[in-house]
Amino acid sequence: MALQIPQRDERRHNLINGEWVPPRSGLYEPCINPADTREQIGQFPRSNKADAVTAIDAAHAAFPSWAATPGPERGRVIGRAWSILRSQVDLLAEALCLEEGKTIAEAKGEVLKGINLLEFYAGEGLRQHGKTLPGESRQTLTFTLRQPVGPVALITPWNFPFAIPVWKLAPALVAGCSVVLKPASLTPLTTHLIAEAFQEAGLPPGVLNVVTGPGSQVGDVIVDDPRIRAISFTGSNEIGLRLYQRAAARGVKVTAEMGGKNPVVVLDDADLDLAVEGIIQGAYGSTGQRCTATSRVVATPGILEKLTEALTARVRAIKVGDGRKQGMQMGPAVDASQLKVDLEAIAAAKRDGGRLLAGGERLAGPEHEHGFFVAPTLFDHVTPGSSLARQEVFGPVLAIQAAKDPGHALHLANDVEFGLSASLYTRDYFEAMRFVEKSEVGMVHVNQPTVGGEAQLPFGGIKSTGVGEKEMAEEGANFFTHLKTVWLDYTASKRTSSIY
Ligand code: NAP
Repeated sequence: MALQIPQRDERRHNLINGEWVPPRSGLYEPCINPADTREQIGQFPRSNKADAVTAIDAAHAAFPSWAATPGPERGRVIGRAWSILRSQVDLLAEALCLEEGKTIAEAKGEVLKGINLLEFYAGEGLRQHGKTLPGESRQTLTFTLRQPVGPVALITPWNFPFAIPVWKLAPALVAGCSVVLKPASLTPLTTHLIAEAFQEAGLPPGVLNVVTGPGSQVGDVIVDDPRIRAISFTGSNEIGLRLYQRAAARGVKVTAEMGGKNPVVVLDDADLDLAVEGIIQGAYGSTGQRCTATSRVVATPGILEKLTEALTARVRAIKVGDGRKQGMQMGPAVDASQLKVDLEAIAAAKRDGGRLLAGGERLAGPEHEHGFFVAPTLFDHVTPGSSLARQEVFGPVLAIQAAKDPGHALHLANDVEFGLSASLYTRDYFEAMRFVEKSEVGMVHVNQPTVGGEAQLPFGGIKSTGVGEKEMAEEGANFFTHLKTVWLDYTASKRTSSIY
């Protein structure tokens, strides 16, 4: 099967009950390339509440049969989708680059990550993760069973438009849930390609339904419908916490992965080159539009100056442009509104007394004039109370903070409301273990960038970043199940208190 990138004005539809159908709203929105806004990649439904209800109807009707399908068979469907998508990595990377702006290399990396996740969850069809445990009664078998919760909603952001839908969809399907998937309005294309691959892989009609459209219309209906039994959300704190409150009011499970303000702590004894490499990759990769992006560097006195100099030189040399062009290292902000957020964060950092070392403006000129390009930006002299030290930017703006000693560095690293990822560069095992134990985050790296996730490892944050079960790994699928505890007295049919 050949997946295709739509032509400029081609209309795509919603996937409801196995058919691609026009939205009841009759409305469409263009998908725009943020590197060159003259380029349009198809038109996608601007669905309304009625469209969302139709998708929920289909998921509700398809649930009993999919839930009763044996796990290995569910896993094989995911395995076939894996095989289809794996054969089209280049096309998927191009689609991702067009709709979100990542460089081709980054887009390929994201697609391969999604493909690894499909491989992992195809195998999870062979496992159920229930337990057999000893009971207090004789001749009684006691065990736990994992059962699918019901139809579920998956609501995804624009920054990883291939990997995040996959890391929610694959565990939901392998657990036996039917799905309504709402991708971000800015990046619907790769979700459509994923859905086409699942259709081709033999996923029964109605098990996966895809509706695009504004979160305020479609999202609210999905969150409030009593037939939706779990919601997996990734996105901003503002929307995520609102959604969590609404869902809690009707007692359904929620996992919400939200913002970050991830620190890299560099101690005096660190390998300087390794730290610089990791910081550049973590802060400016994907234009800083990663929940796990490095947004703060906290350094101790013996290394601060050398590190600042080395980072400044590297940041000034980053090549920014259309991610499809050879040699580009950073793409654009995803849209005008994210560009505005980036520029406002830069202005606020200057007002708060930060010293601008690199970047600090929108890029103009022939290569950049049609896209949302911001220069990779670096500040030092960033104080703990300033907005750049505390608020998520979600763009290529990095803050350097000075620490008195390793203990103070740990304090600064933890001194934010978020708790997603943190990294420490040192050669000292004591300091490394202290950081592992005391850093207030869901994921810790030592001598590695703050970014990254692996299919088989739990992913997610604490504090204001995350609510609910971790994603990916066994935990990712567990979220979509109920755990049922069973006592089975096998003497009853013999009408005796002891058969031995
Ligand atoms: P967002 O504005 O919160 O949107 C996320 C999703 O929610 C989109 O599909 C959006 O639809 C939808 N939505 C909007 N209003 C809704 C409502 N009332 N009810 C239900 N859904 C609604 O976030 P974003 O700007 O796409 O993503 C950036 C944020 O995601 C950053 O804060 C980043 O840190 C976070 N993020 C976190 C992780 C993590 O694992 N912790 C990973 C990636 C990103 P529309 O697109 O139609 O508005």
